[in-house]
Amino acid sequence: MKISVIGCGYLGAVHASAMAELGHEVIGIDVDERKIGELAAARPPFFEPGLPEILTSATASGRLRFSTDMADAAGAEVHFLAVGTPQTAGSHAADLRFVDAAFEDLLPHLAEGALVVGKSTVPVGTATRLAERLAEVAPHATLAWNPEFLREGFAVKDTIEPDRLVYGVADDAAAATLDEIYRAALDAGTPRIVTDYATAELVKVAANAFLATKISFINAMAEIAEATGADVTQLADAIGHDARIGRRFLNAGVGFGGGCLPKDIRAFSARAEELGRGDAVAFLKEVDSINLRRRQRVVDLAVEALGGSVNERRVAVLGVTFKPDSDDVRDSPALDVAVQLKGLGAEVVATDPEGLENARLRHPQLAYEASTTEALRDADLVVLVTEWGEYRGLDPADVRDLVANPTVIDGRNVLDPASWRAAGWTYRGLGRP
Ligand code: NAD
Repeated sequence: MKISVIGCGYLGAVHASAMAELGHEVIGIDVDERKIGELAAARPPFFEPGLPEILTSATASGRLRFSTDMADAAGAEVHFLAVGTPQTAGSHAADLRFVDAAFEDLLPHLAEGALVVGKSTVPVGTATRLAERLAEVAPHATLAWNPEFLREGFAVKDTIEPDRLVYGVADDAAAATLDEIYRAALDAGTPRIVTDYATAELVKVAANAFLATKISFINAMAEIAEATGADVTQLADAIGHDARIGRRFLNAGVGFGGGCLPKDIRAFSARAEELGRGDAVAFLKEVDSINLRRRQRVVDLAVEALGGSVNERRVAVLGVTFKPDSDDVRDSPALDVAVQLKGLGAEVVATDPEGLENARLRHPQLAYEASTTEALRDADLVVLVTEWGEYRGLDPADVRDLVANPTVIDGRNVLDPASWRAAGWTYRGLGRP
């Protein structure tokens, strides 16, 4: 099919490339000229495993093109809206300016019978509002909402082989068109839920609310473990054996971040309040608070580890991205910890395999070091805050001689305390003795 993908960020660039890889003819549109220039040259503007390969093969095949001109989307039968929906400055609500602007820009270019498919995460009610606008301006066209569940770091696989497909539609024809687009996944047995707009919009925010709650639940247990000498990792293993609970997403640590979970739970609360149902999701405020307290806990542990002050002490911060296998530093707990330590006077040296460029743009006041070895050299304290494989695999005996003082705070509970202690380190995890 002929497809346009409007908004070529972490979601849209992968979606456009994956759709072309599946055989569709795709044009990616974005207002960011630099990004479009990179994509058109088959260079991913961000780090995502597997993206370089499909971007290269899809552009070489001629099935994938990019443009900053919305008029180039005119030939498409289906238009995916994949623009950002960040948190509004000074409020918890989602900022829908980009969705509204992209939608309005697209309207004059819609071919007869075109299908507009929302992928962005939006407050419930947005699709109905946009469908009403479409009925006014382009009544021949239809709207669907098809929320995206990809995980950064696994985005290509998650797009080509999703766990499930959710279509929020107003008629069967829209569902049939989406089936044609996702034929390969459907043939491979991917479950598909066809529903109304409101349910589709809510599925996405409910899923993120659940995941955020699961993480904050185990982090709340970590707080109790810290007060009692219990070990939250053993607790998670033990409760995780119950299939109703499950072990995944029960990793206590510095908490969640990124461009989705934090802003999505806040936007959900804000929307529920608008609907007069704020009480129903009031717990999400607690989920957010527990999450932010964990960042503070890491900072407090750092101060404690250095005898009451980090001032003028050299702290190696391992990781700046919000998760491994991504260069995304949006609302990153790791970067937040680094900035807070710097604010307390520490000589922070932050390192990361992929995130340094983005981190430097946001926080030029921090010192960055590409080499882990150099970041560790002469450190008074090591703080691991993003669980990159490289950091998980550090040999405590090897790195012992690099640092000035062998103390490590494992903000992701991914190091083996026994082997680090055996190698002469003072080890502090979160919620574990
Ligand atoms: P992003 O900021 O990386 O990308 C958004 C892109 O939209 C940017 O490149 C921006 O230049 C472009 N844009 C803004 N206004 C535009 C316009 N008028 N016309 C064309 N392009 C425009 O954001 P993202 O992480 O890709 O997220 C996009 C949406 O997908 C959000 O709603 C997000 O919540 C949702 N989502 C993201 C992920 C993820 O893991 N990143 C997963 C699922 C859902």
